[in-house]
Amino acid sequence: ILLIGCTSLLRPPSGSAGITRCGKACYSSCNPKVCIVGSGPAGFYTAQHIIKARQDVEVDIYERLPVPFGLVRFGVAPDHPEVKNVINTFTQTAKHSRCSFYGNVNVGKDVSIDELQQAYHAVVLSYGAEGNRSIGVPGEGLAGVYSAKDFVGWYNGLPNCRELSPDLSCETAVILGQGNVALDVARILLSPIDSLKKTDITQPALEALAQSQVRRVLIVGRRGPMQIACTIKELREMVNLPGTRPEMVATDFEGVAEALKDVPRPRKRLTELMLKTALEKPGEKEQERRNKASRIWGFRFFRSPIEVLADPNHNKIAGIRLAVNKLEGSGEGAQAVLTGEEEDVPCGLVVSSIGYKSLSIDPSVPFDSRKAIVPNIMGRVQQAAGLYCSGWLKTGPTGVIATTMNNSFDTARSLMEDMDSGTLDLSAAKPGSQSISALLEKRGVKPVTFSDWEKIDNVEMMRGEASGKPREKLLKVEEMLQVART
Ligand code: FAD
Repeated sequence: ILLIGCTSLLRPPSGSAGITRCGKACYSSCNPKVCIVGSGPAGFYTAQHIIKARQDVEVDIYERLPVPFGLVRFGVAPDHPEVKNVINTFTQTAKHSRCSFYGNVNVGKDVSIDELQQAYHAVVLSYGAEGNRSIGVPGEGLAGVYSAKDFVGWYNGLPNCRELSPDLSCETAVILGQGNVALDVARILLSPIDSLKKTDITQPALEALAQSQVRRVLIVGRRGPMQIACTIKELREMVNLPGTRPEMVATDFEGVAEALKDVPRPRKRLTELMLKTALEKPGEKEQERRNKASRIWGFRFFRSPIEVLADPNHNKIAGIRLAVNKLEGSGEGAQAVLTGEEEDVPCGLVVSSIGYKSLSIDPSVPFDSRKAIVPNIMGRVQQAAGLYCSGWLKTGPTGVIATTMNNSFDTARSLMEDMDSGTLDLSAAKPGSQSISALLEKRGVKPVTFSDWEKIDNVEMMRGEASGKPREKLLKVEEMLQVART
């Protein structure tokens, strides 16, 4: 009776394993089948937890690009290789006998969520936050204004940012936003080229940065030093960045030392480092280092953009007009309020780093456009049985990989609870990738397996070795597919 509702009649009997195209054991299709959309940290950590929690579940991961790992590959700064070590754990998960990777599948376009739900017992959406928040001021569209998402994508080899070619011929760059991504961008703009040469930054970005005229980077925030959103590691890297010196506005720090008493320890340490950098007279050695520095970075607090100013002769930017704010309230909840004063800062490059944003990829899936997340309770998508979400799509685009890991484990726990309690109906067998592969083939979509990705990985590492880099990333999807198919 069990076999009647079970497509395993066509496949090896339960428990015995056949071999699939990617060389994996092919389990009975009576097993519960879960599909994950997106192969960033959220996708992989959700998969890892599910596979570990139950011995029978099969997990398929669908990814839009031919290459896995999401922002670990395309977001994390090239000079943070240690952060990318999580790839080793993800690779172990991908190679697990009950996990399969299908790259080059754009869910929402190549296959719908409804089709995935037909084929799997549960679908987990983990496709991250691929949009960006706009600044919403006149002049935002001028040449010379970039979103941090595109700028980071450019130096990290995201295929659709390949042709960004930012104009780095100006002396001053302004970054809007004071989170870790803003500091990543500032650091990459100001790092000595010799240290970038040893990273996996793309060759075009390396060449452009080698020619860059940018000497001064101002990192602008609406509120004050006590509200800054970066963490101490990133700030320390700025403070110690070879060849640079800080340029702060001492009056921005009035009253800050006194307000430090009752704040949590991480913020206290971060603020103390800022105070030291901004106000204390440096020691002899540090002074000498600063005297030799040819590049400058600094925070500009209590400022919001009003307009990007155009150069009258060209269609590019000449500067940015900032509103001067004051704070109402204190601590994390303090509000920036306009004073009516304005300030123009001449600059030739503006990078807006005010946040990533999730997008809806399928109209059938509930989506909260205001919060730009999929509405959920503990990862269970509201009013959509069998549908779950994890990662930045679940929480909004904040938090490091460890935060994403925890929220993905929580989602996996919810899913496991629903399987165990019977809330998730496992009584009918589901075809899983068998039916989705057939659909994709009909639509002319050829997925990239994990072993295909390993070919790309090998080529990238070989190319990198030739120039003393850990890897030289392939920059075009077609090139990736060509290597995958050899
Ligand atoms: P993502 O990593 O974005 O993964 C989403 C995946 O879904 C992507 O692979 C994407 O291609 C895929 N996808 C999108 N749409 C579709 C679709 N329609 N169909 C199929 N697949 C799709 N954290 C740290 O701990 N340390 C750092 O140094 C650090 N640096 C960062 C630097 C930057 C610039 C950014 C933006 C973030 C950084 N983070 C860092 C945070 C970390 O990257 C995130 O916490 C984490 O990547 C979020 O994981 P995610 O899986 O939700 O999203």
